[in-house]
Amino acid sequence: MAKKEKLAILGGPKAIKSTAENMFTWPIITKQDEKAALDVLRTGRMSGLDVTMKFEEEYAKWHKTRYALCHCNGTSSLQAAMYGCGIGIGDEVIVQSLTFWASATQLYSLGATPVFAEVDPSTFTIDPNDIEHRITKRTKAIIVVHYCGYPTDMDPIMKIARKHKLKVIEDVSHAHGGLYKGKLVGTIGDVGAMSLMTYKSLAIGEGGVLITNNKEIYERAIAFGHYIRHPYTLTIPPLKRNEGIPFGGVKYRINQIASAVGRVQLKHYRKRMETIQKAMNCFWDLLEDVPGIRAHRPSRKSRCTMGGWYFPRGLYVKEELGGLPVSKFCEAVTAEGYETTHGANFPLHLHPVFNDVDVYGHGKPTRIANTKRDVRQPKGSLPVTESMPERTFDIPWFKHYRPRIIKEHAKAFRKVAEQAEELL
Ligand SMILES: *Cc1c(COP(=O)(O)O)cnc(C)c1O
Repeated sequence: MAKKEKLAILGGPKAIKSTAENMFTWPIITKQDEKAALDVLRTGRMSGLDVTMKFEEEYAKWHKTRYALCHCNGTSSLQAAMYGCGIGIGDEVIVQSLTFWASATQLYSLGATPVFAEVDPSTFTIDPNDIEHRITKRTKAIIVVHYCGYPTDMDPIMKIARKHKLKVIEDVSHAHGGLYKGKLVGTIGDVGAMSLMTYKSLAIGEGGVLITNNKEIYERAIAFGHYIRHPYTLTIPPLKRNEGIPFGGVKYRINQIASAVGRVQLKHYRKRMETIQKAMNCFWDLLEDVPGIRAHRPSRKSRCTMGGWYFPRGLYVKEELGGLPVSKFCEAVTAEGYETTHGANFPLHLHPVFNDVDVYGHGKPTRIANTKRDVRQPKGSLPVTESMPERTFDIPWFKHYRPRIIKEHAKAFRKVAEQAEELL
């Protein structure tokens, strides 16, 4: 057997020799995007709705939903979805703690509070078996996050939700175009909402969109933050009667430069997403038999996909590498020529905002300002979530299918994993 190439961190040659070219550049901007943006700018239609409504029509058509409603960012689209579902004072909402703050923090502004659930350690999405025992009389909804593009296991969650008459909100900010058993994520629960900001897999600048088939959710979202649309969209009497001022005291209209770029990006997205899927699957196929690291992706026969593979991670199994800490593993891969880190989002349940901060002057922490019971969750209460920093690491997010470059990157991870004992 040939002698193993020495690890770069120990003075050997780097596994990655070529430059990454534009493999990681995102979004892909062409003359079409530039022309669309300039057209809005030159005609002074930044605050209009004509381009936005075309974008919404195209977005809804893609998802086969009755409605799509653009927002100025993903955070506001999620808050509108929460309000749309009737979430209000004293309500509890179940959501995973392992996520970006904007999956949950807006609940505070509605007088509601999150109750965090555990994630499945292999999918990083909410564990359907950790939901039902958290439901109380005050539980109003479940928010699922298709985290890092991995589609949440929706069937058992929809069953629980229907049984307890809860609404289901899908946060699709990581998973545009992803499939769960052949169905587009965002169309399975009562409402989907997602960020379209610059770093997401469908990237248009600052922007967000809410999709639903539910007329009441749609109209409540409009009532909350889209006063300009009140006269020609509201029909439900209690909303219609009070039109003209946004109920939320917020203005969530999107800038049409983003909508114009969005229309162009959307046209190309499915094709670009397929290329990303091909490249990312190629990367993991090359690492299938390597000890200590596992792909974060659904099986081929599941009819589930990772969408645009936003924020891609790998699973780290340190027991298979003699207990090598993931931080050491990442340092060694970085030395091979791809800068990697470990972990994912900070667990929300441990942050002061979800423990002691009094946002509105209730004289007590906002987390429990409107609840009868103390829903706070101390360190140790969600062990899987809390162990995620040790279980995950960042992998390259390829935007093009170039096997030569992908192979070099895969080699960097393989090389370190196969010689882990050198680092102990
Ligand atoms: C980015 C993100 C959001 C918020 O979107 P913005 O457009 O940044 O406001 C919400 N949820 C998740 C999971 C996200 O990653």
